[in-house]
Amino acid sequence: MPRPDIKPKQSLGQNFLTDKNIALKIVHSLQLDKEDTVLEIGPGLGVLTKIVQPKVRKLVAVEIDRNLAAMLEEQFSECPNCEIVQSDFLQYNMSDFKEKNIRVIGNIPYNITSPILFKIIDNRSAVKDLTMLIQKEVAQRIVTRPNTKDYGILAVFSQTFAEVKILMHVPSTVFSPKPKVESSLVRWVFTEEYAQDILDIELFKKIVRQAFGKRRKMLRNSLREFFELNTGIFDYTKRPEQLDIKEWIGFANKMKAIIPVQKE
Ligand code: SAH
Repeated sequence: MPRPDIKPKQSLGQNFLTDKNIALKIVHSLQLDKEDTVLEIGPGLGVLTKIVQPKVRKLVAVEIDRNLAAMLEEQFSECPNCEIVQSDFLQYNMSDFKEKNIRVIGNIPYNITSPILFKIIDNRSAVKDLTMLIQKEVAQRIVTRPNTKDYGILAVFSQTFAEVKILMHVPSTVFSPKPKVESSLVRWVFTEEYAQDILDIELFKKIVRQAFGKRRKMLRNSLREFFELNTGIFDYTKRPEQLDIKEWIGFANKMKAIIPVQKE
């Protein structure tokens, strides 16, 4: 590693982890159990895959690149507990998993961090936790608190459905080719503690998205375009970055009760 015969594809966000110690640290942080099922997104040359495989009951690795998937297939052909899937993870059907409590890991292409995260959130009933290497600035947007410029959809969605934590920062020098940005290892441990109080998850997500789409505006103004609001029922004068998770849930639940018509 890196392999001279593999030309990394920038379009697929291929920045391979080349530092064995960091790879070991990442896997160690998972505290894997021999009964665990691990789903790896974007295994690439298999740096993390190799370390995880002997420690778990089952490993499924989803790689979009045909050449890499074929190589991994060969590399792990003798391995009874591994399944290499050649697929775009965003198209991959997670409901095929019979298991609950799946551990999801990945050093993924940074340009699809949000869609991957949203997909895992939608499938969280099968997932215990998600541990991803992502761009450092994005990690900051995930763990930040209200009333900061970074607070937005990523923070609200992450913190509504999971406990989130930055586990470590990783310099760009441990990857080949070296990316332009710094990275952080982030973990989402899914919990229904907040989410169980949401009356309508789809409406909740829609309201959060719509409100942050106009983050300078007061909620009553940004949401008026989409909902027929009966004004004066409660305080719409806050801006989206001022609401903590409990307030978002309370707000979305009240909206559910008062929305007479949903446009769109
Ligand atoms: N995890 C490896 C590779 C990181 S590079 C390592 O740490 O070294 C990112 C990997 O994600 C590449 O192998 C790339 O081909 C793969 N990838 C990119 N888009 C993907 C997608 N939509 N679904 C699955 N894998 C993807």
